[in-house]
Amino acid sequence: MGFPILSRYLLKKIIKIVVCIVVTYTGYRYISRNKADKNGLTILTYHSISNEIEPDETVTPEEFERHLQYIEENYKVISLEEAIEYLQTDIEKVSGSIVITFDDGYSDNYYNAYPLLKKHNFPATIFLITGFIKNNVSKYLSPSQIHEMKNNNISFGAHTISHRILASLTNEEVVREIRGSKDMLELQLEQRINFFAYPVGTRVDFNDEIVEIVKACKYSCACSNMYGMNGKNADIFALKRIGIETTDNFFIFKKKLNGTLNIMSFKDTKYFQRFKRIFF
Ligand SMILES: [Zn+2]
Repeated sequence: MGFPILSRYLLKKIIKIVVCIVVTYTGYRYISRNKADKNGLTILTYHSISNEIEPDETVTPEEFERHLQYIEENYKVISLEEAIEYLQTDIEKVSGSIVITFDDGYSDNYYNAYPLLKKHNFPATIFLITGFIKNNVSKYLSPSQIHEMKNNNISFGAHTISHRILASLTNEEVVREIRGSKDMLELQLEQRINFFAYPVGTRVDFNDEIVEIVKACKYSCACSNMYGMNGKNADIFALKRIGIETTDNFFIFKKKLNGTLNIMSFKDTKYFQRFKRIFF
């Protein structure tokens, strides 16, 4: 079930633009920005950087370069490692900072995103699905591409072995996914893997028990895809991120960065997630 893809994209885009305009002109922005989130850390989630229209979170290389240019002019990019340290020690330091992350480990991150990140001298973190890492040319990153990026300002985190939604698995399977992906990456990269990202990562895709398993597996933080910024009371095992999607034009992108669209965090309620899964 679902709308044809292009009308769905158009509908999403229209909704976002309307929200941006309403929020900007009613001053709702200041109400919607949670006090703790104000001046918090923004972690961006990208997926594919390519000219293909799918999946829903694809950003073209041209748009991505425009984003980086805008970020360079207006914000400070820090690594996820620095961000975790600052969140725990000196929250003031994250004010106006952005962390760039990518989920799923698409090979276009190497071909299209990595050269641009290098050009701007920006660090970034890529969350890899270890079962998808392939030696040959494929949609996903290869070990040699990962190695090259590892030596050039890109860090890696685990995003499970199979990308199944953790909340739908048995405890044993959850442990295998979380610990197994860490072990595999540590072996392959010959370094400690400290970052984890929950597959899909909305509020219904993981729970407290799963968070405890992530902690027990000795990760130092975990990223969700719950929408928002991370302020004083940020949970470093359920960090909020701001997903950049195919339907975000440059106007929407800028509004996402300045917090106007923080109101979108209503999407993280269980009711909305259920509604979305039924109708989309
Ligand atoms: Zn993912």
